[in-house]
Amino acid sequence: MHMLPPIVIECPECGERYLLSRNSTIPSEEATLFSDGYFIDETNWRTPAIIGCVTCELGFFPQNGKLIAEPDWEEFNKQWAHIKKAEPPTAGSLALELRTRKIMAMDAELAIRKEFWYAGFHTETGRILMEKNEKFRNYWNDSREKLEALLSTTHEESLLLKAEINRQTGRFKECIRLLSAMNNPWAQKIVAQASLKNSALFQLN
Ligand SMILES: [Zn+2]
Repeated sequence: MHMLPPIVIECPECGERYLLSRNSTIPSEEATLFSDGYFIDETNWRTPAIIGCVTCELGFFPQNGKLIAEPDWEEFNKQWAHIKKAEPPTAGSLALELRTRKIMAMDAELAIRKEFWYAGFHTETGRILMEKNEKFRNYWNDSREKLEALLSTTHEESLLLKAEINRQTGRFKECIRLLSAMNNPWAQKIVAQASLKNSALFQLN
């Protein structure tokens, strides 16, 4: 398949620009997939649920970013290749945001808690904090529980994430119950690991 170049979006607060891959929700065949839905894909990288911004306190939601360009490869290489990829805020900024923001819209809270969950496993700073800092670890565990409560059972992906959190926290029966009606390969792999009482994050492929 011929890959299209990334698109360019702008932070609504400060105008800083970032690249988003075009099919950011569908990992390519080369992607490394994980049981929590996170994926690493060089050519078609994941768009974070919230984008960290260098000049703003936390960042912005991709859907609020202003579309600046949808270039073809020629235009991209000429004008946009130097722009940085959109990345989630750091584990520390996400934690700070969760601590200080008293009232959050549900979709904002979901996005922040999801990226915070991912930060604990998939970012270097997050992994170090998880290992060395008990307060951080407790806070992260508590946030993961709150994320579980927010995830609905009516959307397939949300249900998979909910079941995965139940598996990670050792509630294997609940994990299997949640996925009992689902038949996709991702669900089957989570159920298989829950049946083995394995709570560790694993790679799907
Ligand atoms: Zn900004």
